[in-house]
Amino acid sequence: MENKTSAMMFREARELIPGGVNSPVRACRAVGCDPLFIKSARGAFLTDVDGNEFLDFVGSWGPMILGHAHPAVVQEICRAAGDGTSFGAPTPLEIELAALVVEAVPSIEKVRFVNSGTEATMSAVRLARGYTGRKIVVKFDGCYHGHADSFLVKAGSGVITLGIPGSPGVPDDIVKNTISIPYNNVEILEKTLRDPTLDIACVIVEPVAGNMGCVPPAAGFLETLRSLTGELGIILIFDEVITGFRLAYGGAQEFFGIMPDLTCLGKIIGGGLPVGAYGGKTEIMDCIAPEGPVYQAGTLSGNPLAMAAGVAVLRLLQQKDFYPDLEKKTAWLVEQFGNIAERIGIAVQINRAGSLFTAFFTPEPVTDFTSAMKSDTDRYARHYRQMLSQGIYLAPSQFEVAFISAAHTGDDLERMVKMTEWSFKKLREV
Ligand SMILES: *Cc1c(COP(=O)(O)O)cnc(C)c1O
Repeated sequence: MENKTSAMMFREARELIPGGVNSPVRACRAVGCDPLFIKSARGAFLTDVDGNEFLDFVGSWGPMILGHAHPAVVQEICRAAGDGTSFGAPTPLEIELAALVVEAVPSIEKVRFVNSGTEATMSAVRLARGYTGRKIVVKFDGCYHGHADSFLVKAGSGVITLGIPGSPGVPDDIVKNTISIPYNNVEILEKTLRDPTLDIACVIVEPVAGNMGCVPPAAGFLETLRSLTGELGIILIFDEVITGFRLAYGGAQEFFGIMPDLTCLGKIIGGGLPVGAYGGKTEIMDCIAPEGPVYQAGTLSGNPLAMAAGVAVLRLLQQKDFYPDLEKKTAWLVEQFGNIAERIGIAVQINRAGSLFTAFFTPEPVTDFTSAMKSDTDRYARHYRQMLSQGIYLAPSQFEVAFISAAHTGDDLERMVKMTEWSFKKLREV
C-alpha cells in the first residue's frame, strides 16, 4: 500500500468494504468529499497517506482526550501486548480499570466491560428489562446509543446524515418497544412516563446530547427525568459513552450532580482501543450472569491491551486541573467563534458543554432534534471543505460535536480561530 493516495485507496476499499468504510459517517458523503486515509497521528495532528497534516477536532469521535499516541498510553499498550494479547480468563488489569471506574463514576458500584459503546447500551437495556420485568425503552429524538436494533429510532448523526428514518432489517416487532420523544421537553416526558398503558423498563439518555451536534440539557430536564423515573420504578440509564471522563472525571453525573441507575461508558475508557462498559448499583448489576440470570458475555471482553490503555488514560486524567484547563480552552475558542460570527454577520448557534461544542448554521437556538435539523447543512459542507483545504479536520457532518484534547495548544486554537474567520467570511460571499 506504499505510495498510494487516499483517492486510490478509496477506490480499492470500495471494492472490498461496503462504501469503502467500516462506519458510515467516515465516508464523508454529507460534506461532498471522499474520505482521507490516515497514516498516523500524534498529539492534535493527523497525517494522511498523501503526507498532508491536519489539526484534528474529531479525536476519533471522542476517545483521544489526551491527543493521539500519548507516549505513556502507547507504552502501556506495548507492555501489555508483550505479555500476550488475550487469554479468555480474568487478568489483574481488569480489576485495576474496574477499581478506577468505580472510584471515578459516582453512581457505579460494579462494572462490566464489553467491547464497544453499542454493546454497553444494548446490555444495559437488557439488564434494565431483566431487572424490572418490563418491556418498553424510552429514548430521545436525535440521541444515538449505538446501532443495536432497539435504538435505531430517530437515532442521531449517522442515521440523520444519511437520511434514513430507522433502518431496514430492524423488525417492527422490536421497534414497537422503543418510544422516542423530544429531548428537553418535560411535559411530553411526564405524559409518556405516567402513561398507564406503557410498560416502561427504562429511559436511556445522553445527559448532554452529542449525536445531533452538542445539545446540553435544559435547566430542570435531567432533574425531572431523575425524579419521575425514581417515583415510577423506571431504570434511568445515562449513556455516558461520550460524556464519561469528558465533562468531568466522574462524567456528566458528577458535572450535573444527578445519579442514574445504570451508566454506559465507552470511547475514553478504552484510550482508543475497542472498549465499552456498563455499571451501576450492585443490586442491579448482580442480575448479570453468572451472578444472576441476565445473560451477557464476550470472548475479548476485558481484553488486556484495552484495559492497559484505559488504566493509563484514566491515571493521566487525574492530573490536577485537567478538566478546568480543558474547559477553559474550549470556552475561549467558542467565545472567539461567537465574536467572529457577530462581526461577519453569519447566523451560527454555538452550543458547548465542557470540552464539547458544535457550531450550528442556523439563526434559532438549538435545543432539540427539530431545531438542530433547521441547520443549513449545505453551508456546513462548504465550511468543512474550506477548513479541510487549510489543514483543519472537522467532523464530516453538521450533527456531530467537536472534541478538544489536552494536546491542543494555544497556538493550535488561535490557528483554528483564524481559519474559522476566513471560512465564515467566504461563506458570506456565496
Ligand atoms: C459512540 C456512541 C455510542 C456507540 O459506541 P460504539 O463504540 O461506536 O459502539 C453509544 N452512545 C453514544 C452516546 C455514543 O456517542
